[in-house]
Amino acid sequence: MGEIRLHGRGGQGTVIAAEMLANAFVLGGKYASVFPSFGVERRGSAVMAFARYGEQPIRERTRVYRPDILLMLDQSLTEIRANYDGFKSGGTIIANTKHKQAIEDLSLNQGMLAVVDGVGIALEETGTAITNTCMLGAFAKATGLVRLDDLKEALALYFQGDLLAKNIRSLERGYAEVEVSRYTPAKTAEREKGQSDLVDIVKPPEITTTFAAAWADVSQKLLNVRTGDWRYRRPELDKSPCRLCGWCSIYCPVGCMKLGDDGYYHPDLAYCKGCGVCANMCPAHAIKMTAEEVI
Ligand code: SF4
Ligand code: SF4
Repeated sequence: MGEIRLHGRGGQGTVIAAEMLANAFVLGGKYASVFPSFGVERRGSAVMAFARYGEQPIRERTRVYRPDILLMLDQSLTEIRANYDGFKSGGTIIANTKHKQAIEDLSLNQGMLAVVDGVGIALEETGTAITNTCMLGAFAKATGLVRLDDLKEALALYFQGDLLAKNIRSLERGYAEVEVSRYTPAKTAEREKGQSDLVDIVKPPEITTTFAAAWADVSQKLLNVRTGDWRYRRPELDKSPCRLCGWCSIYCPVGCMKLGDDGYYHPDLAYCKGCGVCANMCPAHAIKMTAEEVI
């Protein structure tokens, strides 16, 4: 499985780009998943979206913390070091920029850097600075992971008529004009270790028959993020079908499903946000989401 993180700004079509990319993967016979992460929901604010692809069904539901590929839709974001957090050594960066050197100066240990003047192309072809389709063309050429024809088919799910024609031209120019540089990344354990302090949060431990909790202790890692305040429904366990497989604990995105004194998994309600992932993933259908009373 490969993991992609897209960075853009509100209004640049970052989320739609991730969706179109996932559709192109599926059209090409792969599995894919995608979801967005909005910061401030305002035009111009930084936006991330996450996509995964692979030959097998994808069960991961977390944000992408350790991207193999970074797709940067906005030039101003390419020069902010934090946007490369967790980037894997030897990975691929595809960026809308005219200043490739500024990325090279960040010493990211990339295996490939592909740059294209996304804004210039988008302005010429679509009359707007919305770079998403141009950057998808650059992605296809640089990585070879999706076919241009599949991307065109994916675009047709979102655009039609003149707008579709303009965006296909932008896509084709991104494909044709991207400049790809390859590097021999240094392999240093220190770099791998130091790239993201988020890694500890998402790394599941080795699975044994039963375990206290699949993830790091939320009471330490998420102390200041009381995601339980977001909840309007909660998971309720029916113990009789429960097989104690621990999948609910593994897949809980905030790592709050823990083994209780009774030997079964229960959510820590200070952190359970009521997303229902545990119920969806439970192979025994032992978890039901029930509405909470509004106080
Ligand atoms: S996933 Fe379902 S069956 Fe497995 S431990 Fe959790 S509740 Fe029990
Ligand atoms: S609903 Fe389930 S998966 Fe979602 S936060 Fe609560 S325990 Fe975790």
